[in-house]
Parts: sequence; structure tokens; C-alpha cells
Amino acid sequence: MDIIFRNVRIDDAQPLQDVAVHNGRIVEIAPAIAARAAQEVQGNGNVLIPGFVEGHLHLEKANVMQRKANRSGTLKEAIEVTAALKPTLTREDILERSTQVLRALVQAGSTHVRAHAEFDPVQGFTGLDVVLELREKFRQIIDIQVVAFPQEGILKLPGMRAMMVEAMEKGADVVGGIPYNDVSPFDHIDFVFDLAKRYGKDIDLHQDFADDAEQMTIEHVARRTLAEGYQGRVCVGHLTSLAAVEPERQARIIELLREADISVMCLPATDLHLGARGDNYNVRRSLTPVRALRDGGVNVCLATNNIRNAFTPYGTGDLLNIAQLALPACHLGGADDQATVLSMLTTGPAKALGLQHYGLAVGKDADLVLMDTQAVSDVILDLPARLMVLKRGNVVATTEHRRSVVF
Ligand SMILES: [Zn+2]
Repeated sequence: MDIIFRNVRIDDAQPLQDVAVHNGRIVEIAPAIAARAAQEVQGNGNVLIPGFVEGHLHLEKANVMQRKANRSGTLKEAIEVTAALKPTLTREDILERSTQVLRALVQAGSTHVRAHAEFDPVQGFTGLDVVLELREKFRQIIDIQVVAFPQEGILKLPGMRAMMVEAMEKGADVVGGIPYNDVSPFDHIDFVFDLAKRYGKDIDLHQDFADDAEQMTIEHVARRTLAEGYQGRVCVGHLTSLAAVEPERQARIIELLREADISVMCLPATDLHLGARGDNYNVRRSLTPVRALRDGGVNVCLATNNIRNAFTPYGTGDLLNIAQLALPACHLGGADDQATVLSMLTTGPAKALGLQHYGLAVGKDADLVLMDTQAVSDVILDLPARLMVLKRGNVVATTEHRRSVVF
């Protein structure tokens, strides 16, 4: 064995377990493993979980909030501010900031990330090229799925259709889209599906990001998903408009999402910041209805989206911060609800990203995080130190943590 974790908590209802790792995989889970390992880790009853899966993140435009302010706090100005900055972002600059974010993710226990990397005729492919380069550079540290993301639209920009094809030829893993930022959202969706089918890739859309339900196209996405046999291969981020739909139609849409097996990424840090900026009193939350989606059988997840830019002028890359934000904002604070939240950072997004070797089970990749807390139910509340992070059996981050009492 390469590593054995001794006496770790993997389930609050079960006794402590040993977890053995060899050749990058979990090879045994049992109360007392007889074998010895090159590295024995004393768990002391602390929690061991599978790595966090950051299901929706923009690497190349993180950490630029000091360069140009979004004074209105609206989505419209966030897009304008970012579009103005993009031509000034050099390869070296993007490389440095993206690397900072990846290091923060790993230190916080993320072992996978889906990165929406944008490009357009003005900016060119600088951002996408850097993220593709980082996917290879960090291959042993964190798995990066790269989404070809047309932030500025597709149909309304001359040359952008060809750039989408070129992005897939360059090796993007997923076809992205943003129907609400184009001349015809329906044609935009159809273009994305046609491209995804041509390259045999999954789809991830920025979808229905508004405070009202007037321009929604999620039903078209779901029907196209069913028609193409793309169940389980489509993911949508934001989907805030769904909260504004009257209850009967909302229930029908949720049933359609379940049937189409579409995953939903709630992005609370961004959606709370940009949403409802037109409300002068009784301000809406502008979040997708997480509990209704969950109760309706939809794979609903929590993700970061942006870190310290015009869309989200804060953030650390720690998914536990996002989860703590979601507890009150999504009404997930009740004990029964809290118990469903950790999976929105782990197995939920793992399913959304189509990860085949993920999970704390024998035979799965040893992508693991040892937490400085004694109960799985406390992982979100405690914001515990990530004592050790493993990527396919290799230690990629550690945190020293000593409790001391001085009174
Ligand atoms: Zn996004």
C-alpha cells in the first residue's frame, strides 16, 4: 500500500474506518486494515471525504476587480466592464492569475474543476489557450475540464461560429453557450447542440440568468436534450429565472429537467450580487429554487462561478464558503436540508461533469480530503482545515493545524 488513513470518519452512522490507497486508487476500506503502507496517516477520528468538484468557474477573468469597477452592480455592466478589460489581458497575466486560483482550489480540497474559458473575435483565443495549457500542466494536481465559452454571444458576432468550431478542434472538452446574450436564444441553443453532437461532447450553458421569467429558453434546452438522447450530458448554470415562474409552470419545468437529466449549477455568490439590482425594496434573492429542484429529483449543485471580478467582487475558491452562503440564501439551513448540501459540492457535480472514477469507494480514484473535524455533518458548519488533499494518491496539499487553548 502507498498510503493508509487510520481511523477516519467517512459516515456518521458507521464506526471509524481505515482507507488504503495504492497506485492512485482506493483499494480497501475496512475497520482495521492489517497491511502496512509506506505512509501511515493517523486520522484520529477526523473526516475523510472525496475531493470537492468545482462545477462552474471562470479562471482567466478572476482577480481583476481592482482594475475596473462595476459601479451599478448589474449583469449588464459586469459584461461591459469585462469586455473592456479583455483586450488588455496578456497571456502572462492570465497564466499568473489562473494559477493563483488553481492553487487556492487545491488547497481548499477541490480535485476537479470545470473551467468556462472564453474567447471572441476581439480577444482572440488567449484565454482559452492558457486554460488548455493549464489543463496539461496541472494534470497530476487537479483535473480541469475546459468549456468553450462564448461570453459575448455566437450568432451576433461575425466569425464566432468558426471560432466555436476551432475551440473544439483545439481540444475543448465541453461545448458552452449563453443563449440570453445573443440575437436568437433558440438558434444559439440549436447551434450548441449541433456542435456538441458533431464532436461527441457534453454541453454546459449559462442559462436564464434574470430576475424575471420573460425570456426563458430552458424548456427548449430540455426538449432538445430529450430529442437528441443527451440525457445526463447537459448542465446549466444560474437558471435564476426559474425562481420567478408561477408554481404550476415551475413544477412542469422541474419535471422536464428531471426527465432530461439536466444538472443545475446554483451560483449563489454571483447571483446574489448581480440579481435584483432593480428592486428598491423587498429585494428578491434571484437564486434558482434549489430545494424545489432537489425535491423534484434534479441534480442541483453549488459552484463558485467567479472570484473577485465585476461579476463577483469577492471569493476565495473554497467551496465551503459557497455552501455556507447557500445555507441561509437557499433556505438550506434546517438539519434535514443541511444533510443534503455536502453532496452538492461532491457527488452531485461529479455526476454533472460525468466523472467515472469519482467517489469514496474501492476501485475509485484516490481523490480525497482529510478534514479537521470529527463529524461529516459538521464539514460545512466548521469550515475545517483541509489537513491533507490527495489527487490520485499523491499528496497535493497539506495544512498544519494545532488546536491550542490559552485560557
Ligand atoms: Zn459562469
